[in-house]
Amino acid sequence: MREHDVVIVGGGLAGCRAALEIKRTNPSIDVALVAKTHPIRSHSVAAQGGIAATLKNVDPEDSWEAHAFDTVKGSDYLADQDAVEILTKEAPDVIIDLEHMGVLFSRLSDGRIAQRAFGGHSQRRTCYAADKTGHAILHELVNNLRRNGVQIYDEWYVMQLIVEQGEAKGIVMYHIWDGEIEIVRAKAVMFATGGYGRVFNTTSNDFSSTGDGLAMTAAAGLPLEDMEFVQFHPTGLYPVGVLISEAVRGEGAYLINSEGDRFMANYAPSRMELAPRDITSRAITLEIRAGRGIHPDGTAGGPFVYLDLRHLGKEKIMSRIPFCWEEAHRLLGIDAVHQPMPVRPTVHYCMGGIPVNTDGRVRRSPDSLIEGFFAAGECACVSVHGANRLGSNSLLECVVYGRRTGAAIARYVQERKFPELNAETYLAATKKEIQSLLDQKGTMRIGQLRQLFQDCMTEHCGVFRSEDAMKEGLAKIQELKQKYSQIYLDDKNTDWNTELIEALELRSLMIVGEIIMASAFNRKESRGAHSREDYPQRDDSNFLKHTLAYYSPAGIDINYMPVVINRFEPMERKY
Ligand SMILES: Cc1cc2nc3c(=O)[nH]c(=O)nc-3n(C[C@H](O)[C@H](O)[C@H](O)COP(=O)(O)OP(=O)(O)OC[C@H]3O[C@@H](n4cnc5c(N)ncnc54)[C@H](O)[C@@H]3O)c2cc1C
Repeated sequence: MREHDVVIVGGGLAGCRAALEIKRTNPSIDVALVAKTHPIRSHSVAAQGGIAATLKNVDPEDSWEAHAFDTVKGSDYLADQDAVEILTKEAPDVIIDLEHMGVLFSRLSDGRIAQRAFGGHSQRRTCYAADKTGHAILHELVNNLRRNGVQIYDEWYVMQLIVEQGEAKGIVMYHIWDGEIEIVRAKAVMFATGGYGRVFNTTSNDFSSTGDGLAMTAAAGLPLEDMEFVQFHPTGLYPVGVLISEAVRGEGAYLINSEGDRFMANYAPSRMELAPRDITSRAITLEIRAGRGIHPDGTAGGPFVYLDLRHLGKEKIMSRIPFCWEEAHRLLGIDAVHQPMPVRPTVHYCMGGIPVNTDGRVRRSPDSLIEGFFAAGECACVSVHGANRLGSNSLLECVVYGRRTGAAIARYVQERKFPELNAETYLAATKKEIQSLLDQKGTMRIGQLRQLFQDCMTEHCGVFRSEDAMKEGLAKIQELKQKYSQIYLDDKNTDWNTELIEALELRSLMIVGEIIMASAFNRKESRGAHSREDYPQRDDSNFLKHTLAYYSPAGIDINYMPVVINRFEPMERKY
């Protein structure tokens, strides 16, 4: 058995920022960071458009209160307002701190950090490094981990969160290189495992965004919060789903239907292309449904709309959003200086997650916490995004709440002893579990079952939802779960058995998908990204509350938790 004061699972922005804060607070704390990828390959590296903070470099009248209001309104009033206040107040400070670490932000001509417009933000407050912001920040953070003596376990797949008697004690992890299994005991475990885009068949997320941390938390008997709120980003490149950043619209690009109209005028006349993502994704879906989408041959009635950048001109495109130009050129052969890009909504972000308080401590129930367990970043739900996240608020959440959670862990482990743990039991059970997966004599390929599952989620729990469709979807999920015992693996080796990892990831996808659909089924209203055709209105009297879903293989129990409303009273949400 290995032992560290703190073990952090996840090497993206949230995990790295937390690790760094623990070391800055107390260099003698022994911190390990585990990731199934190399940390620099975490999905954070793909973040493009930027990170929000009221530096007031471009719009001097901006304020944290305005940022907080935009965030709460964007969330359709489901965000916890105490958490939003922290997010927006601490934002300028974390950006300056990143700059001092060496992050290369794009500049104004006077040398200050540049800021651009973003969907749902009333001021230009998004800081950026061209359209490679995640890349710039993550590289600097990972450098800092090494400098500060954080022990990195890369390409270890974490399989289980060990919870006994209401206390998190450590993790079980599997070394992808050689199949070694290790139990790690820790005074504090933190999850920063990112999102679950791969639950759906079209997503902007990378292949490792399979929701493992969410599934492990649920399997340990802990609740997941607000999982029905799945963000569809309006502009996924058709047909692959790869992201074309909102920064492109922030810089002035138009959305055009088959009739050549800027159709956002009919959905959000005051914000147009810079309406929040839920509204813009619904607008595109409705245009396509109404036959005003476009086919690859340019005729009407097809599956996408155009994102048109041509009026921006070559110089602006190449200096502000070069990566988006590259993506369209590399994947589709399109030169966006001269041609519009085909886009449609793609699954992008997980608003819900592991419920935490503003110190990153995980909740067991609406009013109790579990010992020894923390979470931050996309896998966590401190609820700053509520029912719909604004662009550029997620990187900010990772950095603000990564830092806070790190500071809270540094305090927490001072008082805590190593928990008692019988490693042999976990070791034996894990070996048996892996062996039985390898020995399984089924008839189904992993890819086949994964595709069926992703298609089921996309068809029955997409941009628009209804009771009938979800009832069918939930029944299909039960059938597909049975088929998991029928998958077979060709690769029986321990070295680099990526097939085995895919089998484990598929299990995560299925747990997370079922929780998403069950939570969506129970929320009989439309709010933010959750859009019910059978309940088209927001219903504050019955549903202004957070969902808490408890998973067990036998079924899912749904409970609710109040929303913190201490500043902005819910109003009708119009743009
Ligand atoms: C294409 C794209 C562009 C985006 N652009 C922006 C943007 O411009 N602005 C913005 O605010 N947000 C943006 N987002 C969202 C934002 O990037 C993410 O929400 C954020 O980076 C998530 O960071 P994280 O630290 O929570 O997790 P991630 O960066 O996803 O990292 C997860 C980590 O967990 C590890 N892990 C997961 N499961 C396991 C396991 N079982 N065992 C071991 N390790 C595991 C992974 O290896 C990885 O290291 C974008 C997202 C995408 C997909």
